[in-house]
Formats: sequence, C-alpha cells, structure tokens
Amino acid sequence: MNIHEYQAKELLADFGVGIPAGFPALTVEEAVAAAKKLPGPLFVVKAQIHAGGRGKGKFKELGADAKGGVRLAKSVDDVEADAKDMLGNTLVTVQTGDAGKEVNRLYVTDGVDIAEEYYLALLVDRASGQVAMVVSTEGGMDIEDVAHNTPEKITTITIDPAQGFMPHHGRAVAYALKLDGDLNKQAQKVARQLYDAFMALDGEMLEINPLVETKDGKLLVLDTKMSFDGNALYRHPKVEALRDETEEDPAEVEASKHDLAYIKLDGNIGCMVNGAGLAMATMDIIKLNGAFPANFLDVGGGASKEKVTAAFKIILSDPAVEGILVNIFGGIMKCDIIADGIVAAAKDVNLDVPLVVRLEGTNVEKGKEILDNSGLPIVSASDLGDAAKKIVQQVKKAA
Ligand code: ADP
Ligand code: MG
Repeated sequence: MNIHEYQAKELLADFGVGIPAGFPALTVEEAVAAAKKLPGPLFVVKAQIHAGGRGKGKFKELGADAKGGVRLAKSVDDVEADAKDMLGNTLVTVQTGDAGKEVNRLYVTDGVDIAEEYYLALLVDRASGQVAMVVSTEGGMDIEDVAHNTPEKITTITIDPAQGFMPHHGRAVAYALKLDGDLNKQAQKVARQLYDAFMALDGEMLEINPLVETKDGKLLVLDTKMSFDGNALYRHPKVEALRDETEEDPAEVEASKHDLAYIKLDGNIGCMVNGAGLAMATMDIIKLNGAFPANFLDVGGGASKEKVTAAFKIILSDPAVEGILVNIFGGIMKCDIIADGIVAAAKDVNLDVPLVVRLEGTNVEKGKEILDNSGLPIVSASDLGDAAKKIVQQVKKAA
C-alpha cells in the first residue's frame, strides 16, 4: 500500500527525522490558511498524488509552459494562485502513465534553502533476504538518469535485519554521501532513524529524494515516498487508516473487499485461478500461446459462489477483456461446487465474451458435467496447455 508524501513525513517525524514544517490542504482556502501558519517568506506547494516525478510533471488542463506539481511560492497570494491552478487538474508525470492523476490534495510546506541534494532509499532485497539502503550524492529530479548513466555513483549498503542497524552502517552511509564533521554525524543519525521507521512500520520501500543539506548545515527530508507490506497492515491500524482509495485502481479496491488478490495487467485475456503459483503458470502459458493476460487473479483456497461471482464482475469491468480463462484446481474445494459457482456467476453477469474452463481435482467429472449441461457456451479444457490454446483461439475467432 502507498501513502502520500505528507502522511509519510508525519510518520517519519515520530522517529525524530528532520522534516520542514508543512500542512496538507484539500481546498484553496486550506492552502492559504496553511501558508499563513508557516513562517515564510518562501513556501512550496506540492501536489499530493501516489506518484513521483511531480516537479517535472505537466498539468493536462494547463499550457505547456505552466509550472509542474511542485511549485516555489514567494507569498501567500502565490500559494493561493498555485493551489487554484493545481486542485482538480490532472498531473502527468513519468510515473503516472499518460492518463495522469487528478490532484485532490496539496501539501504546503516551508521553502528550504538547498545547498546539496542527496538520495537515500530503503527496500527489501529479496535476493539477499536483507534490507538494502541505497544512497547517492546525486539526489534530486534526475536520479533515474544517474542510475542509468553513472551507476557507480550509487552505493548499496545491506543490513541484516536479524542483526539490526549497526554503527558501521551509519558510517558507511555518511561516507557514501561524502559528508564530514557535524553533517557526517547527522547522516548517521538520520540513516538509523529511517531504518527504525522502515522496520517498525513493516515498510516495503522508503525513498527520500531529495535528502537535502541546507545552507545552514542541516540534513532535512524534503520528499518522501513510502509503501507498506499489505500482509502486515493488520499490525498497523494507524498506517492502514492513511489509505487513499481514490489513488488506487477501482477494480483492485473492489477485489480487496472480497479478499481476492487481483492485479490489473495490459492484455486481453482475463484469468481466474486459485493459488498464486497456478495463476503465474496460467499467465505464462497464455503468453506462450501468443496472447497476453489482462490480469492476475487468485481467488484463494475457498472459492465460494459469491467469490467467483465477484471475481467475474471484476474481470469483466476491464473493457480490454475479450475472453476469460478459468483454471481451478479443486483440492479443498470440490470441482462440482466450483462448476456450480461458475455457471451461476456466468448467468448472473450476462457473460458476453468466450469462457474456457479447466477444472482438475476432486469430483472433476461431476464438475465437467455441470458445465456441459449448463446451456452456456462454456468451452471445457482438459489441461493447462489445452485451456490456453482454446481461449486464445476463441478470442481470435470472436474478434
Ligand atoms: P518529485 O520528486 O515528485 O518531483 P520533490 O518533492 O522531490 O517532488 O520536489 C522536486 C524538487 O523540488 C526537489 O528535488 C527540490 O529541488 C525541490 N523542492 C521540493 N520541496 C522543496 C522545499 N520544501 N523547499 C525547496 N525546494 C524544494
Ligand atoms: Mg522527489
């Protein structure tokens, strides 16, 4: 799960991390009130969307010369004008895709006199099973180019979570950032605070870009992106409450309400599968047959009729779907019960695209009988390869 910059900053402040003062705003009036609470004379008005690259982003509704989603404002009046410009408009950045994201929240914050911009991120490194702290002296809006053109300017420090953050990790961070004296000490401290926050909140990714050195010698976090391990959210009601569903794919939100693991993809063949491994294999074999999956969908172990119906509706809510492949292994669930669910769901949603079903496991014969006698144009498949071939053929035929 992702959260907004201002929310992440509020969480980090609890761990002692240095953050410039600022307030969120949902309306122009709130933005003005926020600016009035800040000392000024320099303010920054920042679009709050779940995507980076805002500074270099462009608003769809404004001209090509208009400023982006992070704006320096020199007076409260400027803050007001910027807030009017941004709220309700669509910001397109390298991370939003062409559709962009509507800006419904702003963050009005202190303008900082920047001497240097650094980069610091924490992520779970699955390969080593450790936490990776990625640091660079070249922070700011061009970090992607740095990673691409001069990877030697990026240092990765791995931390064994069983051992925890040791003083030498902090020294390695400060050394990689080439900091001396008091700034060196500050870097060690902020690295530990960020690690503590990342671990305590079950973070998946925490990116500070930029971490700045101010002209008066302080290290401050100027931009934060943070995401969390969804499976650990039950331990963090405070984090869970920060969820902004308007930023998420509506189909994914609906799926999570039914406890379905659904991820939208770019293809045209909808998949309904039980078990993540089988779902991955199903997507692979669709590709092997020359087509692309429209989604990943794991209905889980106990696929009830209600769940199957919800899954069908979610798959069909995607206008790109031209056919559905159901691939279910009836282990704990019996195939006949699943077949009943599929037939009922298909009738319920007025299915109008080809449907291929592959069932295997307990009571498979009974299950196939139910599908065959349903009166619905359901194509039954004998195995995974056969199923993929058939759905690709059916979709081609229908096109
Ligand atoms: P994004 O990464 O989405 O473009 P940032 O918050 O990193 O957004 O802002 C882009 C740039 O704007 C930063 O690299 C920094 O140079 C500048 N900036 C951001 N916040 C402030 C601030 N509070 N004071 C001064 N400059 C800022
Ligand atoms: Mg940034």
